[in-house]
Amino acid sequence: MKTIGLLGGMSWQSTAQYYSYINTLVEERLGGLHSAEIVLVSIDFAPLEAMQAAGEWEAAGRLLAQKAARAEAAGADLLLIATNTMHKVAPAVEAAVRIPLLHIADATAARILTEHSQPCVGLLGTRFTMEQDFYAGRLREMHGIEVLTPPAADREIVHRIIYEELVLGEIRESSRAEYIRIAGDLAARGALGVILGCTEIGMLLSAADAAVLLYDTTRIHAEAAVTEALT
Ligand code: GLU
Repeated sequence: MKTIGLLGGMSWQSTAQYYSYINTLVEERLGGLHSAEIVLVSIDFAPLEAMQAAGEWEAAGRLLAQKAARAEAAGADLLLIATNTMHKVAPAVEAAVRIPLLHIADATAARILTEHSQPCVGLLGTRFTMEQDFYAGRLREMHGIEVLTPPAADREIVHRIIYEELVLGEIRESSRAEYIRIAGDLAARGALGVILGCTEIGMLLSAADAAVLLYDTTRIHAEAAVTEALT
């Protein structure tokens, strides 16, 4: 079994889910008392969030690159960045290590493309993920997936709920209702499914809540890592 390097803490709420999903999957696939080999490098989210808000992406990239090198030195054979947003600095992370980075957008695209050809999907995530090109652009250009995002006022709601509630582990019914409405609007515009493109959204919204197909990037990313670790 390969050792999975997990860059976490962004936020720790979703990293806890990754840890649980990865171990559950290894247990299911290998049986008995098997569990995953993991190197977890978990960072303090507060200074990183301040860098995001200030647009200091180069500094954030340097920070994550250092942490990735630490995971590699500790024995990781492959690497996950356990957040969609911080894939904005994936090139800096990849440049700092020799081990492969399993990109969360690639894993998600692969899942979508096993089910649909030439799909159009909705995307929910932080403002950075919904509005900048490192994520939707990659889905479009590398994978041929058309991506719809909510209108500006709804993007603001989605972003605010992530940073003011979900990363703190707060789950509110009113926020769930907003997400269900926004996902429904994306489906009405032609999305065959909606990417939960923030690793905390799965804590708020599950398949049973929404009438539309949901792609939970935390689960998909964890599954891709386990498949790779057991190859
Ligand atoms: N975990 C979130 C994501 O997947 C947001 C927190 C962050 O900014 O890293 O984008």
